[in-house]
Amino acid sequence: MSGDTEDAAAAFRAEFTSWLNAHLTPELVKAHGEGRGLEEGNIEILRGWNRTLADAGWAAPAWPRAHGGRDATIPEQLAWLEEMSAAGAPGAINVIGVSNIAPAIMAVGTDEQRARYLRPMLRGDEIWSQGMSEPDAGSDLASLRTAARLDGDSFVVNGQKTWNSLGRHADWCQLYVRTDPDAPKHKGISCLLVDMKTPGVEVRPLRTMTGDLTFSELFFTDVAVPRANLLGNLNEGWRVAMTTLSYERAGVARLHLSLNERLNRLMADAKGRPAMEDPVIRDRLMGVYARIATMGWTTTRELQAIGAGRQPSAAMGSIAKLMWSLTEQSLAELAVDLLGLDALVGRWGKNLAGSRSTTIAGGTTEINRNILAEHGLGLPR
Ligand SMILES: Cc1cc2nc3c(=O)[nH]c(=O)nc-3n(C[C@H](O)[C@H](O)[C@H](O)COP(=O)(O)OP(=O)(O)OC[C@H]3O[C@@H](n4cnc5c(N)ncnc54)[C@H](O)[C@@H]3O)c2cc1C
Repeated sequence: MSGDTEDAAAAFRAEFTSWLNAHLTPELVKAHGEGRGLEEGNIEILRGWNRTLADAGWAAPAWPRAHGGRDATIPEQLAWLEEMSAAGAPGAINVIGVSNIAPAIMAVGTDEQRARYLRPMLRGDEIWSQGMSEPDAGSDLASLRTAARLDGDSFVVNGQKTWNSLGRHADWCQLYVRTDPDAPKHKGISCLLVDMKTPGVEVRPLRTMTGDLTFSELFFTDVAVPRANLLGNLNEGWRVAMTTLSYERAGVARLHLSLNERLNRLMADAKGRPAMEDPVIRDRLMGVYARIATMGWTTTRELQAIGAGRQPSAAMGSIAKLMWSLTEQSLAELAVDLLGLDALVGRWGKNLAGSRSTTIAGGTTEINRNILAEHGLGLPR
């Protein structure tokens, strides 16, 4: 990093920490730290904080100023993430919208779509979900079958989505549909922005083993979606699906920062327990610590290279996802061996149950290993 960039990032960090000290309350840190997410009446507390962050330009500093961000450079984004994590501050409630859907709207949306959707998304006024997976289309997303037929000025949508995170809270869904059944499978897909209050949309929440209604199934029966809600060009939905992360590259650092927060909490909760003296447990603790540190260094090195103008490496996302998910599971299992039965209930119990899904969500371990083999190591398919 050049001296100027370093100075700018330090000034950015100082401005943010002084704002954070003035606005973040212990109640908010508690609402975040208990890991209740949007469940159990937490949503309005977190939405209020989201609005405070957004109105001050701190909800997504990576976004362009024109849309409510700060055009933050990568070192500035990293500084913001580190300070949010160190303070235990909750972020925007629209995680999927802010990190995945907004970049696509910015890149391929119309001016009307940008003006209509981005601001309420950033403030958490409208919550978004992403409707990709179907009962028979997960890893092989391109085989999705939910159909949309153009009829005058509207698409008529019929089909089913599943594993839809935030589905029961969502006001809008970025929905991937098949608009040309005769084209090769990657080429006949389009992306629609669907108002979840439209007649014919049914949301059925699914309770997972964590006890939460984490996902929903979505059913669409003759749902009329205005043609103006097509995102990107007709039959070019695959390109929209691939347009992510352009404004949130440093978001990958969230993974090791959140693991680090949890490791620190585990050490605090386990203080004085006899298991802390067990050499095998201590060895495992060091293993988890070392993996988190390695993730941090790998991410920082990659982000600095991108900041210096190099192309991101094709395999970086897969390396980060793979290391994060496997370390999540090691940490959750370690908590059980350190805290005994206490780790099977409450925060740690939920953490243990939830950690199983990390090797599936956002691309399974096997798929990420395939990507690494082909694009990272250059092995044949
Ligand atoms: C916490 C969580 C949140 C999610 N949120 C959303 C969401 O908001 N929106 C959404 O649309 N979806 C969401 N999903 C769904 C997720 O994207 C899919 O579960 C994932 O893509 C895998 O698809 P699948 O479940 O159909 O499994 P499948 O694709 O059927 O895979 C089954 C098994 O086969 C393996 N496999 C498949 N293909 C290959 C291959 N080519 N080579 C080797 N092994 C292979 C897989 O690794 C897996 O072990 C979420 C899932 C989780 C767990």
